[in-house]
Amino acid sequence: MPAQPANKRILLKLSGEALMGDDAFGINRATIVRMVGEVAEVVNMGVQVAVVIGGGNIFRGVAGGSVGMDRATADYMGMLATVMNALALSDAMTKQGLVPRVMSAIAIEQVVEPYVRPKALQYLEEGKVVIFAAGTGNPFFTTDTAAALRGAEIGAEMVLKATKVDGVYSADPQKDPSAERYTRISFDEAMSRNLGIMDATAFALCRDQKLPIKVFSIFKHGALKRVVLGEDEGTLVYA
Ligand code: UDP
Repeated sequence: MPAQPANKRILLKLSGEALMGDDAFGINRATIVRMVGEVAEVVNMGVQVAVVIGGGNIFRGVAGGSVGMDRATADYMGMLATVMNALALSDAMTKQGLVPRVMSAIAIEQVVEPYVRPKALQYLEEGKVVIFAAGTGNPFFTTDTAAALRGAEIGAEMVLKATKVDGVYSADPQKDPSAERYTRISFDEAMSRNLGIMDATAFALCRDQKLPIKVFSIFKHGALKRVVLGEDEGTLVYA
């Protein structure tokens, strides 16, 4: 009998940078196809998957092109960037046989449907992949916070934070060869050690809601599958 997933419903946070591959900005087609392949594996195991997609590969509100801009305006541009990524992700998912639904926190009716919680829950029950776009819909927040928020709203068992590194380390593994990966770490310990796992708002929300975070690498083949099978992969941050 094939291994059974440990999770029924997960919230996967993909940063915009994850879509860039080795490019300097934008969306790298081969990268997105490979990433969707990883997602398809767990969806086909019967896991309900919701995705929050970032926008940093196209626009980041607080840096770069936004210098000198009104912060809220720049942040709205950042949120619109996440909608573009969501469309690209949705397209790639459809081509790989998944059934995605993009739901935006900002009304852009002609392009994507608005976020409506009961509808999102219905889609998940139907085995569709829900892609949450436009973050929280509010400036001064991040898509990490959107991941914590939507994760709590849909009753996800875990927020999966996909990064370039395969977990949380005691020091920067690229600089310090003695750095060790934590298999598990509590919210309190992660805080006391000042480990930057998610931004403070996102972290506090997960901690308050006792919503575990799993940090893992989306670039490591099969890692997402191993995470949902409950195997030793990445770092679990628990309450
Ligand atoms: N953003 C925002 N509110 C949100 C989510 C995102 O204002 O709820 C804006 C913000 O400007 C941010 C940008 O959208 O810099 C892109 O999101 P984020 O930086 O979280 O993307 P990632 O780093 O995951 O690619």
